[in-house]
Amino acid sequence: MLKETELKRPNRLNFTGGWNYDPAPESASNVKLKETYQHFINGKFTEPEEGKYFATLNPATEEKLADVADGSAADVDAAVKAARNGYNKYWSKLSGRDRARYIYRIARMIQERAREFAIIESLDGGKPIRESRDVDVPLSAAYFFYYAGWADKLEYAFPNRNPKPVGVAGQIIPWNFPLMMAAWKIAPALAAGNTVVLKPAETTPLTCLKLAEIIQEADLPPGVVNFVTGAGATGSEIVSHPDIDKVAFTGSTKVGKMIHKSVAGTNKKLTLELGGKAANIVMDDAPLDQAVEGIVNGIFFNQGHVCCAGSRLFVQEGVADTVRDKLIDRMESLIVGDPLDKNTDIGAINSQKQLQTINNYLELGLNEGGEIYQSSCPIPDKGYWVAPTLIGNVSQSHRIVQEEIFGPVLTIQTFRTPAEVIEKANNTPYGLSGGVWTDKGSKIFNLTSQLRAGVVWANTYNKFDPTSPFGGYKESGIGREGGLHGLSAYLKF
Ligand code: NAP
Ligand code: MG
Repeated sequence: MLKETELKRPNRLNFTGGWNYDPAPESASNVKLKETYQHFINGKFTEPEEGKYFATLNPATEEKLADVADGSAADVDAAVKAARNGYNKYWSKLSGRDRARYIYRIARMIQERAREFAIIESLDGGKPIRESRDVDVPLSAAYFFYYAGWADKLEYAFPNRNPKPVGVAGQIIPWNFPLMMAAWKIAPALAAGNTVVLKPAETTPLTCLKLAEIIQEADLPPGVVNFVTGAGATGSEIVSHPDIDKVAFTGSTKVGKMIHKSVAGTNKKLTLELGGKAANIVMDDAPLDQAVEGIVNGIFFNQGHVCCAGSRLFVQEGVADTVRDKLIDRMESLIVGDPLDKNTDIGAINSQKQLQTINNYLELGLNEGGEIYQSSCPIPDKGYWVAPTLIGNVSQSHRIVQEEIFGPVLTIQTFRTPAEVIEKANNTPYGLSGGVWTDKGSKIFNLTSQLRAGVVWANTYNKFDPTSPFGGYKESGIGREGGLHGLSAYLKF
C-alpha cells in the first residue's frame, strides 16, 4: 500500500517551463442550433403531445443550448406506431441491398458534417473536441459503414439459420458517447431489417436530433428511425410498450436491473450494456512510459465518463514507485478546461448531478482512509469540473474500489504475483473490461484468459472497432454490441 507522503507531491514540477499553450478553441460560430427541438416521429419533427420541454445545458458554461421536447406515454406510443408502420409498409419490403444504400448514405452524411457533429457533441456533453473529433464522430460513421456492409449478406453472416428481423426495437442510450451509442444501436438494427425508437439521455440529446436531420435528408422511409427525447420516465415508457419487440439499453446497472425485471415474462429480446470497474494491470516488465499514457487515456480522458474506463490501477510492487511518480508527473501536465479548445485533455463533467456523485465519492474515499492526490491544474470558475485524481492507501473492501464512480478518479493498488492480481481484478460485481501491460506474450495470455471481463486490452487501452464485439460479464450486462454478435442481437433465427 502506498503511504500518504508518497502520494502528495503537488506543484513539484513546472512542465511548461513558465509558458503555456495559447488557447486554440474550435469556433462554434457556424454551428446552427435551433432554440427548440421536437421529437422526430414518422419522418417529421413533431410537437410533444403535452407541450412540455426541458433545457439541455452546456456543462462547461452552465448556459442553456436549447429546449428539447419532454416525451410522454402518448409521444412514445406515436413513435412506436410510426416504427411499426415503417416496418410493415417500407423497411421489411426492401431488399438488403436497398437497406444498405440508406445506411451508407447516413454514414457518408455523418462524415460530411463531421465538424458540426464534433462541436455539438462537445458543447452539449462537455467532452474535449479532440475526443469528439477524433473518436466519437469517425467511429460513429465507421459503425454505419460496417453494418451497411452486412445488410445484404445476412444469409452469409449466419448460414443455414434463416435470419429474420425482430421488428421494432426500443433503444435507450446514456450521455457519455451520445452519437456513438446511437450509431451502435441504430446501424445494426437497420441492417438486420428492424425499425427503431431511440431515446437519447436527457443531458445530451442534440447530436441525436442532428442525426434525425440527416435521416430526414437521407430520405429514409417515414417511421424507420424515430427519436423521442425525455428523462428516465420516457425511457421506461419505451421499455414497457407492448408493441416493442426488442429492448437495447446502455446505462447504469441500477436501471438495467429494473429493465430486466420489466421485460421478464414478455417475448421482448433484450441487450444490456451496463457499468464497469475495470482493472488496468501493470506488470514489472511493462514499457512504463507507454503504460502511463495508457493509464491516463484509460481513466482521465473523456473525464472518466467511460463505462470501460480503467478505474482501478494495479501495479506490480517492483515498479510501483516509478509508475506512481511518472503518473503524478503526467497528471500535472494534463489540461482541464474549455472542451472546445484543442489543447484540452479533460473537459467538463457532464452534469451537476454527476459532479455531485463524483465529489461524494471523493469524500467517501477520504473518510475511508484513502490518500488523495489531485493535479494542481487551474479549474475554470463556471461549469462542472473535477481535476484528475489518484487515490492510494485503499484495499479491496473500500467502496471507492468496488463501485463505479464514472469520473476522472483512479485508485492505485500494488500486487506481487499474477495470481494475486487476477484475484483482486476479478473481485468486483462488474466484468466489462480490463487492461494488461507487459513485455511478455505469455503473461498477456495468462492474464487475459483469466480476467472475467468482456474486453481486455493488452499494451493499449480504450480502442474500439466496429468489427469487434463489446459487452460485459456479471453485472456489466447481457449480450454484445459490435461485430456479428451485435448484428445477431437484432435477428431471430
Ligand atoms: P442511467 O441513469 O442508467 O441512464 C441511461 C439512460 O437510461 C438515459 O437515457 C436515461 O434517461 C434512461 N433511463 C433512466 N431511468 C430509466 C428507466 N427507469 N427506464 C428506462 N430508461 C431509463 O445511466 P447514466 O448514469 O445516465 O449513464 C452512466 C452509466 O451508463 C454508467 O453506469 C456507465 O457505466 C453506463 N454505460 C455503459 C456502457 C456500456 O457499453 N456498457 C456505455 C456507456 C455507459 P435520462 O438521461 O433522462 O436519465
Ligand atoms: Mg447538455
